[in-house]
Amino acid sequence: MLAVDQKSLSRSVASPVRPALEGVQAYKAGMTLAEAARLAGRQDLSKLASNENLLGPSPRVAAAVTAAALNPEIYPDPYCETLRAAIGGRLGVDAGRIVVTPGSEALIDYLFRAVLHPSDSVLLSSPTFPAYQIFGRCAEAAFIDVPRLANFDLDVPAFAAEAAKGPKLLVLCTPNNPTGNAMTAAEVEAILAATPTTTLVFVDEAYREYHQAFDAFALLDAWGGPWVSARTFSKAYGLAGLRVGYGVCSSVELVGYLDRIRPPFNVTAVSQAAALAAWDDVEHLERTVALTIAERGRVEAALDAMGVERVASQANFVFLRAAAGPDVVATRLLHEGIIVRPTPVPGGWVRITIGRPADNDRLIAALPAALAL
Ligand SMILES: *Cc1c(COP(=O)(O)O)cnc(C)c1O
Repeated sequence: MLAVDQKSLSRSVASPVRPALEGVQAYKAGMTLAEAARLAGRQDLSKLASNENLLGPSPRVAAAVTAAALNPEIYPDPYCETLRAAIGGRLGVDAGRIVVTPGSEALIDYLFRAVLHPSDSVLLSSPTFPAYQIFGRCAEAAFIDVPRLANFDLDVPAFAAEAAKGPKLLVLCTPNNPTGNAMTAAEVEAILAATPTTTLVFVDEAYREYHQAFDAFALLDAWGGPWVSARTFSKAYGLAGLRVGYGVCSSVELVGYLDRIRPPFNVTAVSQAAALAAWDDVEHLERTVALTIAERGRVEAALDAMGVERVASQANFVFLRAAAGPDVVATRLLHEGIIVRPTPVPGGWVRITIGRPADNDRLIAALPAALAL
């Protein structure tokens, strides 16, 4: 009796948390190696679920990390001056227009909190990266979702029509996660042409290194409103574990506002040093990107030979239809030691990262049985 009373009592105590958080689902990350090892009962795993670059970062990163780790008692540079100067130098952008963040996810969080009032509108196109919904809902934004076409391309006329109404924030993800397809310059231009300069345009270019279709900064500057282009060291640069992303912003002022909302020492000294070493090794970047693209062609050819429906990917992953069901296929592959990402996209779609050649060999060998009906 007492237990029952206490239970109802604890339920009647109001939650201290903002009601907006009740409707938010925490980000569902890909399976960790430890979790997969436990479920699969094996250690020899190919982790193809989180779009990491399994070829790894530049070999220069290890020495940079070791050197930076010698003085852990010292706070990191809160403005990442050296890294921003290096990034700005190569991109031809004033370093004052760059903000470095612990992963580009953090940039999404800071930016959305900086600009969104409750019930401000965010225009996006599903299926896309879940972080926009997560951080937007935390900021109590309202979403306008223009669903993608059957082939997952953006419905440009419908999207431009909504953009013309002046949402507070507009999100373009290209190449898009989880579908892998990219926008053309003409599509971006058509949307920007319809968008009033009171809207903030957020372009997520996490996979840009795999597909440099257009000069995003030039298109956005020509449009003339406020914008942020988000990029990351987590994918092609091979530093997902160290959490470094950056945003190039339309103005130094916008960076100043993000500096107010972000924690001051949010990018560790080790992470800054690793990112700088990775940034400076252009040759390594180009080599791993070229290998990943070649390997993607090999995986796509195998899928085509099996008659599997897929999206033409411009990123370091493939997006394919699993008629047997995404969870069934993911479970079968896990038993073969391959971790992939089932998605909730209607029709039953699975996202699979392009790994090292041996990972991809193993994937190609396992796919026919895994995809069987
Ligand atoms: C992976 C990814 C990110 C986040 O990467 P960080 O590790 O936080 O830098 C952002 N956007 C898209 C579309 C991604 O796929």
